[in-house]
Parts: sequence; structure tokens; C-alpha cells
Amino acid sequence: MLTVVKFGGSSLADAGRIQNAARRIAALFEAGHQVVAVVSAQGDTTDDMIEKAAQIHTDPPKREMDAYLAAGEQMSAALMAMALHKMGLPAISLTGMQAGLMTDGVHSDARVLGLRNDRVRQELDKGNIVVVAGFQGVDGAGDITTLGRGGSDTTAVALAAFLQAAVCKIYTDVDGVYDRDPRKFPDAVKLPWIGYDEMLQLARQGAQVLHDRCVELAQMYNVPVQVLSSFRPGEGTFITALPEDFPQI
Ligand code: ASP
Ligand code: MG
Repeated sequence: MLTVVKFGGSSLADAGRIQNAARRIAALFEAGHQVVAVVSAQGDTTDDMIEKAAQIHTDPPKREMDAYLAAGEQMSAALMAMALHKMGLPAISLTGMQAGLMTDGVHSDARVLGLRNDRVRQELDKGNIVVVAGFQGVDGAGDITTLGRGGSDTTAVALAAFLQAAVCKIYTDVDGVYDRDPRKFPDAVKLPWIGYDEMLQLARQGAQVLHDRCVELAQMYNVPVQVLSSFRPGEGTFITALPEDFPQI
């Protein structure tokens, strides 16, 4: 069974956290899953890079910004593959372009269109854990694009959709989806399950937990999504069309 997992920036912020995420990947792999792991840039890397670029040009060409920012996720992917190798596991990192993630040409806010090669599938078939740099793809001109802030969620769900994964697990620094913003409302309640429509509403209202395009794609391709904590045990929140749709794995 193929499982796509995604780790956000805070889940990868330092070497110890990368190793923690690698252990979660290892547990799935050792339980017999094929695993594609999508990673964000570490910690505040993307914000720091944006500040650095602004010292050079206050309104840089978007094509160059995409080429630059995509490097943040590429660094994470290679580091994660190293962490897995250190644990004795077969792993390979791929950029969005190497993975063949096709997008339109709207730099800094590109939409995912499909997979233009079967590199990820080939690497899985060789027995590798495939670590894919999130947030980025390649357009028809062969240029690097990025998917908008928070776009690694969308990479993960897109890969799960195109590779027909059983589930997409989004590991994050919160332990699931709440009915209201838990930072503002202490009595907010964690939802064990939420439908795509309601989740889309939350994402569009600015709930930070998932990128809105990721929820749109999940709904379009009927990808079961699970949002859960990288740091604490627990099942988090399942996102499917109907509560009974979640696969028992
Ligand atoms: N690194 C990108 C960002 O900070 C993408 C992501 O983390 O999903 O927005
Ligand atoms: Mg995010």
C-alpha cells in the first residue's frame, strides 16, 4: 500500500526534528508501506530567504524568486534522505522537477496539472522511500514554479492523487483540525473527522492548518487526508467525503 506523508517546516526545524520525522517514515516503511515523503523547507527558511532576496531587489522577477525559494525544500529533501540512510533505509530525494510535478506557468502561485514522468513510481518499485521537495513543480517551458505559501500540502495531496495512494498523512505542529482557532478560543474542539466541503470553508477562511488548493485537490480526486501531530501521539483529524470513507490502515 502506498502512503504519502508530508512534514511541515516546524516538524523539520532542526536535526533532531528531521530524525524524529525520519523515524515516523521508517515506522510506516517497516510496516510494509511504500512511502513518498513530501517535505517543506526547515523552520523559517522561506521567510528568511524572502528577506534576503529583498536586500537585493524589492520586487524581484517571480521566475527568479521561484528558482530561489524552491531551494529551501530541496535542502530539506536531501537532508531527510540522509537521515533515512543513516537509519539503514533505502531512500532517494527528488526535486519537484525530477518528480515530474507539472504546473501551469504562474510563478509564485502555480497550479498543479499532473505528473509528466513516472520517476517516483520507478523509485518506489526499486524499494526506495521517495522524498520529494514540496512547494514546487515545473511548467511547460521547463522552468521551476512554486505553488504559493504553504504549498507543500498541495504537493503531498497531488502526489497522493496521481499515484493513487491509499492515504495522505499531513504531519504538523498541531494535533488536528479544530472547529475554531484553538489559539484564540481555548474551548475550541478538535474534530476527529471533517468533510471536504467544511474543511475547504475553514481553509478559505484562513485556518492555517491546510493550504486551500490541497483541500480542493483532495476533494476532486477523493484522497483521504489525515492531519496529525509530528510530536504527539494521536490520530488527529480525518478528512474524507463521508466519515466511513477513511481506510482502515
Ligand atoms: N516553504 C513554503 C512556505 O513556507 C511552503 C510550505 O512550507 O508549504 O510557505
Ligand atoms: Mg502549512
